[in-house]
Amino acid sequence: MTDAGDDLIDMLDLLDAVEGIAYVVAPDFTIRAIGPQSWRTFAEANATPALADSQGIVGKSLFEFIAGDEVQAWYRRCFDAIARDERRSLTFEYRCDGPDCARECRLSISAIGGKGAPRGYLFQSVVLHERVRPPVTLFEPEQMLAAVQAQAHLPILTLCGICQRLHADKEADSWIEAEEYYRRGGSGDVRISHGICPRCVDIWEQDAA
Ligand SMILES: [Zn+2]
Repeated sequence: MTDAGDDLIDMLDLLDAVEGIAYVVAPDFTIRAIGPQSWRTFAEANATPALADSQGIVGKSLFEFIAGDEVQAWYRRCFDAIARDERRSLTFEYRCDGPDCARECRLSISAIGGKGAPRGYLFQSVVLHERVRPPVTLFEPEQMLAAVQAQAHLPILTLCGICQRLHADKEADSWIEAEEYYRRGGSGDVRISHGICPRCVDIWEQDAA
């Protein structure tokens, strides 16, 4: 413990101390701080060691890590909902699968500061349930990125940026999990585009209900 009260607790230690991964985002959506130990553990478990150093993340826009215009617009509406909301926070469940594991997570986004425009946002992401499953190439970021860049002839398959269900049957407007997609004979030779499914589109209204 130091004599100076203002550095009694270092913010990074605090972010590392809470359950899951916690980070602070400025009002302009720049990532300001992230718990370095919990982030490293997460990045290594997700086979993205290039991102394991949190210093490579801090200072970047949150939106660099959110793929798809529709998903980015969804997050912006989400921030607006939080700023309007009396409780100043929003909690919802989402999927964050790795290539060989299904992962159900819960994200809480809380406005920092009293009433008025938030001084920033605190994000906390906790893994609720993790289950090993056969590898799903659709969730291997490098492979899918290569497909987008090199194989423009492949059909586009929309992946919900929140629940990770796939828009497999546009005519029936059905959104299904990746495993079900393969069971129905769906092909991995696609280009993934990120969108938002009807179930996730107004998640903040479900949260308020
Ligand atoms: Zn969804």
